[in-house]
Amino acid sequence: VPELPEVETVRRGIERGVLGRTVRSIAVTGARTVRRQGADELRARLTDRRFESAVRRGKYLALGLDDGSALVVHLRMSGQLLHVTDAGQAMAPHTHVVVRLDDGSELRFVDPRTFGEMYVSDEVGEDGLPVELARLGVDPIVDGLTGAQLARILAGRRSPLKVALTDQRLIAGIGNIYADEICFRARVRPDRRSATIERPEATRIAKATLKILSDAIEARGSSLRDARYRDVSGDLGNYQDRHAVYGRAGLACRRCGNPIVGVRISGRSSCYCGHCQR
Ligand SMILES: [Zn+2]
Repeated sequence: VPELPEVETVRRGIERGVLGRTVRSIAVTGARTVRRQGADELRARLTDRRFESAVRRGKYLALGLDDGSALVVHLRMSGQLLHVTDAGQAMAPHTHVVVRLDDGSELRFVDPRTFGEMYVSDEVGEDGLPVELARLGVDPIVDGLTGAQLARILAGRRSPLKVALTDQRLIAGIGNIYADEICFRARVRPDRRSATIERPEATRIAKATLKILSDAIEARGSSLRDARYRDVSGDLGNYQDRHAVYGRAGLACRRCGNPIVGVRISGRSSCYCGHCQR
């Protein structure tokens, strides 16, 4: 499932290859991907528009258009946004939307599980973000995240730390993988009740959040064996090789050698080291 580093990697690819390009035509073959507006409306709003900016908040992308609107892309479970420079390249299975650009290249939205979506939003703020994305919480990379901020977010919360870290209304962009990695780096168990996190721990968690997410962006995200994340060029990420705990239940902790524990926290599989994390 794409999280902040994967979506940021896609954003950077779009910024490099798509800004300044104008939409010539749109082909929609997957109705679910455009469920919010329908194919006709998406076509009407996008055709002849030029892409001018690419911003991200949490796991959402907003591609600014020259009439002040923005194409919002949410990859959700299995969506991929590919920029294909050779339009003759075969369509991947589950390609639902093809946006043809004036240089002959194509933006292709591929999504086997069809939870992802695309729509054009008219109400865009000065920061380039559609107003409906204002409900999202702090984005650790765009906004920064301090210990004081995180301490305020966690204060009085009964939910486990991991649930708070992955609640998009509180902090936008963290999912199952990076929450486990952040907790390991901060030496805090993900099943701790949020309200019990002390101030020095909140500072460690905030710092770990910035470090883990930045490193993962630099490695161009994580591509798991069963998942489908690819960047806009179709290449896999590299950060999966550096996971310390995620997906490593039963294996030796890279720091202390004790076995990594696998548990479920609010229904989601989670991994931590019982020796390194308190
Ligand atoms: Zn350990």
